[in-house]
Amino acid sequence: LSERLSGVFDRLTKQGALSDEDVKTALREVRVALLEADVSLPVARDFVKAVQDKATGQAVTRSITPGQQVVKIVHDELVHVLAGDPEADPGKLKIDNPPAPILMVGLQGSGKTTTTAKLAKRLKEKEGKRVLMASLDVNRPAAMEQLQILGTQIGVDTLPIVKGEDPVQIAKRAKTQASMGGYDVYMLDTAGRLHIDQELIAQAAAVRDVANPRETLLVVDGLTGQDAVNVATEFDDKIGVSGVVLTRMDGDGRGGAALSMRAITGKPIKFVGLGEKMDAIETFEPERIAGRILGMGDIVALVEKAQATIEAEQAEKMMKRFQKGRFNMNDLRMQLEQMLKMGGMEGIMGMMPGMGKLAAQAKDSGFEDKVIKQQIAMIQSMTKVERANPQILQASRKKRIAAGSGMEVADLNKLLKMHRQMSDMMKKMGKGGMLKQAMKGMF
Ligand code: GDP
Ligand code: MG
Repeated sequence: LSERLSGVFDRLTKQGALSDEDVKTALREVRVALLEADVSLPVARDFVKAVQDKATGQAVTRSITPGQQVVKIVHDELVHVLAGDPEADPGKLKIDNPPAPILMVGLQGSGKTTTTAKLAKRLKEKEGKRVLMASLDVNRPAAMEQLQILGTQIGVDTLPIVKGEDPVQIAKRAKTQASMGGYDVYMLDTAGRLHIDQELIAQAAAVRDVANPRETLLVVDGLTGQDAVNVATEFDDKIGVSGVVLTRMDGDGRGGAALSMRAITGKPIKFVGLGEKMDAIETFEPERIAGRILGMGDIVALVEKAQATIEAEQAEKMMKRFQKGRFNMNDLRMQLEQMLKMGGMEGIMGMMPGMGKLAAQAKDSGFEDKVIKQQIAMIQSMTKVERANPQILQASRKKRIAAGSGMEVADLNKLLKMHRQMSDMMKKMGKGGMLKQAMKGMF
């Protein structure tokens, strides 16, 4: 998402004034980018419309470029949607009238138990509150013990485990214990399911009716994208949610869930989970998430890293094929396309150790973008079988391919010769382990 958006805005920046058409084109790309980031369709559409309305009426500011101006409008609108009520303080929970019940709901594995403990620790350390935690998870073996262990670790009390109780009974006992023990807050960590189902909802609703929570926090895995919105809508309709905690925001998730969740449920995102450790939780900051969605924050580094990983994997794959002596027309075509990207034959050869001479030759033979493009066109005119086995190319096939790509048979012969030479070279280098070195320099 971020790379894509930066690209759009770079292009805008290069132009003079901000025309209607500029804005429209840029926003079309923004919409696609949002969808790719798992923002739901109606949300992306509304978002783009809101930005367009705002941008269209605005005079071009002289001190900044048009591109910067659109970035600012998009950014401000993102922050606006993400933040919601400007009066609301996302880091604050309603915990007056002790003991205040907090109900934690969400799908299994979303991070409810972890978040329960993280929040308890925070309330204790930042606000000096006495917190009691209770696990209502009677479904999963050892779920109650999990919360108990975390409690010991962070120095927060947990409700003693009594086997055989149902969630409603546990909630009642937690309430009594919290009142009698003089706790400020008691937190109810419910069971989850892998998918939302009526039994799960009914159970959570029964607990809600007993506890009458001051806060019902929906814990959502920030990496789940579109699905997150369905889950949020369902929980909010059936149980009533007062706030959202987005977990796993330490991963390279796209942040799209945050936007659709806010736009569709209207519920405030209160906290973000940033890891497995007990301190890895922070107050939700709309600016930070907006920056992340737009690629202006720390996400840029993550995206670059991902890109590097993908390219390294591709290089590795190709290398394995070369070492086995498999270098067909598809591989050549990929190489040629890569060359175009990297500044032609000279550029690419210059990067490979020991290839200086070849690079000079390439230059002499007029190896320019135009030639590379013609070569790619010839490969495109080949059938699948021909690309995989170029040795089958006899006179009639050659004529057809040359005609199909608007070239001469002589040009095709040159291409085939180059392929043979490269193929031989790859084989030799593969045996000597040189290929690996060379490829390292290339990618
Ligand atoms: P529950 O089934 O909803 O109670 O989920 P858990 O609290 O047991 O968490 C499931 C897994 O997700 C555990 O391994 C947690 O350590 C991990 N987890 C929870 N929150 C985060 C987070 O914000 N970031 C990361 N990286 N892992 C998390
Ligand atoms: Mg749990």
